[in-house]
Amino acid sequence: MGTLVAFHAHPDDECIGTGGTLARAAAEGHRVVLVLGTNGDFGEVPDDLAEGETLVDRRRAEVLQSAEVLGVHRVAWLGYKDSGMTGWEQNADPESFHQADVEEAAERLAAILREEDADVVTTYDWHGNYGHPDHIKIHVVGNRAAELAGTPRVFEMTVNRDAFMRQIEAARAADNDSPLGGDDFDPSGPADDGNPMGMPEAEITLSVDVSAYAEVKRASMRCHASQITDTSFFLQMPEEMFVTAFGTEWFIEHGAEPGMRDGWLFE
Ligand SMILES: [Zn+2]
Repeated sequence: MGTLVAFHAHPDDECIGTGGTLARAAAEGHRVVLVLGTNGDFGEVPDDLAEGETLVDRRRAEVLQSAEVLGVHRVAWLGYKDSGMTGWEQNADPESFHQADVEEAAERLAAILREEDADVVTTYDWHGNYGHPDHIKIHVVGNRAAELAGTPRVFEMTVNRDAFMRQIEAARAADNDSPLGGDDFDPSGPADDGNPMGMPEAEITLSVDVSAYAEVKRASMRCHASQITDTSFFLQMPEEMFVTAFGTEWFIEHGAEPGMRDGWLFE
C-alpha cells in the first residue's frame, strides 16, 4: 500500500477535483493525506455563523467532515491567508499564499511529504485550472516541494476542457434541462487569467474512473454547505448526470509519455 498526499488551495477544492481519487485510494487501503495551502478566508460568508464563529472556523470544520466522508486519514494546513480572486486587493497581503516565498512554502509541504514518506503527490496544472492566484501557487509550490522531498510521482490535477465541452454540447442537444445545457457558461472562453478552463485533452496523461465513488464525492461536497449550497448545480444534478460530469478525474503526470491513458495513480 502507498501514501497519497493531495495538495489543495482552499477547503472544498479537495472534493471537486480529486474527491473520487481520494475516496478510491482510501477504500483500496492507501494512506491519504490532505494538505491545504490556505484557510479559505475569503469564501462565501454564510448567514448562520454562531456568536464568535468565524468563516475560517466554519470552513475548517467543513473540510474535516468532508475528509471523514472521503476516508482521508490526516488533514494538514500550511496556514497561509487566502489571496482572494485575481485582482482583489488581498492579492497584495504579505501574509497571503500568493505573496508567500516559494522556497519557504515548498519546504513546509516537503516536510510533510518526507514525514509521510509520500509515494504520490497531487498538485494543479500550470494555471490552477482557472487562474485563481492560490491555485496557481499550488502548482508552483507543490511541484517544488515534490522536488525538495524527492517524491517519486507527481500528478497535476486538471479539468479536461474537451470532455467538458462535449458534455455541454450533448446537454444542449438533448435539451433536457440539464444544468450543463445552460448557455451562460463556456469553458473554452477566458477564465480569470485570460486562459480557457483546464487543459486540452491532448496534454492530459491520466484519466481516472471514479464513477463508483461519485456518490461519496457528492457527499463530500455537501459537507461544504457554506460554499456549495443545495441549490448549486453540483448538488441538484440527477445521479446519472452527476456520474457523467464528475465520475472521471484528470491528471498530468510528470515524466509521463504523451497521450491520455485510462489508469490509476498507483499503477
Ligand atoms: Zn480554491
